[in-house]
Amino acid sequence: MTLAVMALYADGPTTLRNIASWRVKETDRIAAMATELRKLGAEVEEGADFIRVMPLPDAGAWRAASIHTYDDHRMAMCGSLAAFNPAGLPVRIEDPKCVAKTFPDYLETLFAIAQPAGAVPVICIDGPTASGKGTLASEVARRLGYHYLDSGSLYRLTGLAARRAQLEPDPCNEAAISALAQSLPVRFVADRILLGDEDVSDAIRTEAAGMDASCVSALPSVRQSLLNLQHGFACLPGLVADGRDMGTTIFPQAALKVYLTAGAAQRAERRHKQLISKGIPANINSLRADLEARDARDQSRTASPLKPAQDALLLDNSQLTVEESVDQVLRWWQERQPFRTS
Ligand code: C5P
Repeated sequence: MTLAVMALYADGPTTLRNIASWRVKETDRIAAMATELRKLGAEVEEGADFIRVMPLPDAGAWRAASIHTYDDHRMAMCGSLAAFNPAGLPVRIEDPKCVAKTFPDYLETLFAIAQPAGAVPVICIDGPTASGKGTLASEVARRLGYHYLDSGSLYRLTGLAARRAQLEPDPCNEAAISALAQSLPVRFVADRILLGDEDVSDAIRTEAAGMDASCVSALPSVRQSLLNLQHGFACLPGLVADGRDMGTTIFPQAALKVYLTAGAAQRAERRHKQLISKGIPANINSLRADLEARDARDQSRTASPLKPAQDALLLDNSQLTVEESVDQVLRWWQERQPFRTS
């Protein structure tokens, strides 16, 4: 099956014979292989016990494709080899996790040694406080198998580190706080966030930590200190990043930028429900006042203020379920990327 895909790169036609057993494996692998290679632009003949693949002689003959995996680990692994196409066209593996049957970290291993031909695909989701960016971005990342960057957590961590160092998060301490941000001992382990050896996942989620984050994030040299850390998240196979300036400053070349909004009342209500469900007492009116104050500060600061990128698509999720918002972003992504789905 590896050879069937490598045949696309050969100088002449390749015929694999005596492979009738392919038809009775995880799927009918001859039919599956022929279908998927044709999506990539190849001419393929198949018979009861053979497959014949014509090569794709030059870059112009290749087509971007979304490879169906038929719940077959070998279709996923072999299909990934099409990503070496000389046209640099994207190849999507529809169910990458099916490699688990024989080589669970196959794709991580591949990405560790492969370099992207072009830029790593990035989706930015920016918007005001409690608009649901985190929920939307992490779910889109999960659905696409991409990495996820919650950039707000970096400002929250910086705010926490400043407090621990007895530094008020204000401009007098800009140099000291930006030095802390430069060398934050942060690690993201599964869904936990560690600062040094301490799990601070909950400590950075309080309303006070949000306010501190908003104060330190207005300091230009703090933003500068966190730049490399954020760029480092853009790794294969792709990244979904959420925050305030993902599309305007951090990843201005991103292929898709979404600006997510919802009315202040709705956002306060969501935050209220979130806190109450965690057993944290909260008052909806003061939550609304806090988030409006935070938005005002984020929008009026001079360093990377919160605003939609010029090429951002606006998504008001006031009346949408999470699933509907996720589907909308995935539809936009599908339109942006030339993957074929049939
Ligand atoms: O998104 P989250 O509420 O966790 O962000 C906390 C604060 O960090 C925001 O209010 C904002 O001031 C700041 N922030 C930022 N730029 C980002 C992400 C967050 O300035 N990209």
